[in-house]
Amino acid sequence: MPVEPESPVGYTLTVGDHRLVLNEQLGKTIEIEFSGEIRCIHCDRKTNKSFSQGYCYPCFKRLAACDSCIMSPEKCHYHLGTCREPEWGETHCMTGHVVYLANSSGLKVGITRASQVPTRWIDQGAVAAVPMLRVATRYLAGLVEVACKQHVADRTNWRTMLRGEAPELDLLAERDRLLERIAPELEQLAAEHGRDTIEVAGDPVWSLDYPVDIWPVKIKTHNLDKQPLASGVLQGVKGQYLILDTGVINIRKYTGYKVSVRVMSE
Ligand SMILES: [Zn+2]
Repeated sequence: MPVEPESPVGYTLTVGDHRLVLNEQLGKTIEIEFSGEIRCIHCDRKTNKSFSQGYCYPCFKRLAACDSCIMSPEKCHYHLGTCREPEWGETHCMTGHVVYLANSSGLKVGITRASQVPTRWIDQGAVAAVPMLRVATRYLAGLVEVACKQHVADRTNWRTMLRGEAPELDLLAERDRLLERIAPELEQLAAEHGRDTIEVAGDPVWSLDYPVDIWPVKIKTHNLDKQPLASGVLQGVKGQYLILDTGVINIRKYTGYKVSVRVMSE
């Protein structure tokens, strides 16, 4: 689901060769129907189950993108010479990363490749975010994040996020406070990895708003594995979710699923 950081965020749903601008479909009834076929997004092999959001089991076991260090960057093992795909690691991990603070369902810390700003924040449904540190590698970002986790959450409560209930936060003040708290750890990391590998970011706060007409009160979820047809009036899009009047659907979860999408005229 490609995104554009406009105000509100622009969402396009890609189904095969077709692109559907979701912002223009608000208020319309849409049907998403899963055919029962899942194809690996890497090798196109048919698979009964999707692993790591779109991969077949062999790819899941083999690709660096599916390794456990992707979820836990502090476990990056490129420097040990054991990266599953060192070339992929060079472009995706051994490159500049940003440690940021975001407000998705409250204050959270996260990391992303520098080129994924602000896409990563939109993926999480953050209403605001601010870079805190620029670091040389994914591994370093992971180590900084570990230090931050003692003070700040690293998860989004997606139900709160989808209800549009993120509290007001002063992210610049939070950034200053957290930097002060992790100063000893930052000093140690800079001493170990080099002074030029960690830099405090002075960026302003990004605000993001989403195309949502009606916020759901009670969150029900559509599950295409159990009920292949999801149908309802599109009331909004936020994070990776479509908000239908009949429930929400996490589109990312169904990457690789062969689906047909119909928009009912009136
Ligand atoms: Zn595969």
